[in-house]
Amino acid sequence: MSTLIDGKALAAKLRGELKEKVAEFKRTKGEIGLAVVLVGEDPASQVYVRNKIKACEEVGIRSYSYHLPAETSQSDVEALIDELVVSEKIDGILVQLPLPKHLDERKILRRIPHTKDVDGFCAENVGNLAMNRETIVACTPFGVMKMLEAYGIDPKGKSAVVLGRSNIVGKPMAMLLVNADATVTVCHSKTQNLKEVCAAADILVVAIGKAKFVTADMVKEGAVVIDVGMDRDENGKLCGDVDFENVKDKASYITPVPGGVGPMTITMLLYNTYIAASRR
Ligand code: NAP
Repeated sequence: MSTLIDGKALAAKLRGELKEKVAEFKRTKGEIGLAVVLVGEDPASQVYVRNKIKACEEVGIRSYSYHLPAETSQSDVEALIDELVVSEKIDGILVQLPLPKHLDERKILRRIPHTKDVDGFCAENVGNLAMNRETIVACTPFGVMKMLEAYGIDPKGKSAVVLGRSNIVGKPMAMLLVNADATVTVCHSKTQNLKEVCAAADILVVAIGKAKFVTADMVKEGAVVIDVGMDRDENGKLCGDVDFENVKDKASYITPVPGGVGPMTITMLLYNTYIAASRR
């Protein structure tokens, strides 16, 4: 039987610690501010934004919410970002994605300097991560590393497989594991012998967006299995990319969905905002 990596409990613990750090920061240096920009009425985005604002309140970070109508022009969104970039009240700028189709997402995100890029998505932060230098790390993979650390799982010398190569999860995850001295293989939709590659992993991180894709035969006995996926099963119930029920007895450690990686992501956004403020 494996040990469950409890992301919910760890996130709560980290938020408690962060709350104290933020309070101390406020006493000595002033408020920490996160700007959250939402364009349009996408219901899922509205929920995400609400959760982020609530999480900020919980730890004492001041949030500034900008909800723009769906038809807002490119130049108006850019003008808002430019204002936030120079504002001394704002330590981090988060633009909730996806943006409405008529907007050039890349152009908008490129206006955010790496010092305020609390999502860790910009080229400079990604480049710094690749070179193992001081940076801001994308929240989800950053959260995964915190989970490994909290459970005493040292990637050093281990064989790690990252399933998925997205810019926001798979690639930064692979870089973090390389920086932590793991031997890393990145898999994607064109990978051959996927089952065998995954089954050789001491640490398997899965982020592909396919419900219960990773079955027990793809997992090595005693492997650490981290499930980033947030999917719906055949009954519409939230589940991950890993067939949890069948994999859990084979893994040494495993994250559940929900209650695993998910709660860590917003927590790391708060951490990144605190880090950005500390480097002002
Ligand atoms: P994404 O951008 O859609 O990328 C999916 C990746 O999986 C791609 O690299 C793709 O390969 C690969 N892939 C898809 N099907 C595959 C298959 N059959 N075999 C091997 N590789 C396959 O996804 P993402 O944004 O990284 O998100 C992945 C999952 O994580 C989603 O369920 C998402 O909801 C979840 N997520 C959760 C959190 C959280 O906080 N818990 C945060 C972010 C994302 P190609 O590159 O070859 O197309």
